[in-house]
Amino acid sequence: MITNIARGVQAFTSNAFLVEGDRTVLVDTGANFDAVGTLDEREADLDAVVLTHTHSDHVGNLDSVKDAFGVEAWGFDADQPGVDNAIGDEETVRLGDDGYVALHTPGHKNDHLCFYSAGAGVLFAGDLVFQNGSFGRTDLEEGDRGRLIESIDRLSQRVDGHLAEMHTGHGPSVTTDPARDIEMAGQAARMG
Ligand SMILES: [Zn+2]
Repeated sequence: MITNIARGVQAFTSNAFLVEGDRTVLVDTGANFDAVGTLDEREADLDAVVLTHTHSDHVGNLDSVKDAFGVEAWGFDADQPGVDNAIGDEETVRLGDDGYVALHTPGHKNDHLCFYSAGAGVLFAGDLVFQNGSFGRTDLEEGDRGRLIESIDRLSQRVDGHLAEMHTGHGPSVTTDPARDIEMAGQAARMG
């Protein structure tokens, strides 16, 4: 089961997805809300934190979650604060009951990863693409529009036809033909 524990939070935060199963994982921790309290309320037995990238709105709650549950964090770049273990491009990570391939997808931030399970038909897209063809900011440090477009194109080719659910770093998840939203984001990023 996948639950956004930041849903309804009025604060500067990303979404934070609790993926329950064999290996219960929090994909991004969010920021500026009581993630530990929310996880306790749900009686979530966390095994790990996995990060799409290390922008402050995605990792603000990282230390408190790690401390409360005694878990480690995985991300692309283990030199980033709070990241204990590195995940390489094309490496498979277990989230809940499924294996997800990590796709290094820079352009919004250098350490950005998407996580895709062809078997489950689920994608965690981080801040690369959003609903309705929106795409991640490239005006921040490490932002690069050309690289972002390459990352979106790679993702678009990878998920073609298999994708049922896309969970994004901000805004609502997409459950109706998310591949189309990714394709639209690629077009929009070229124009805007
Ligand atoms: Zn970001």
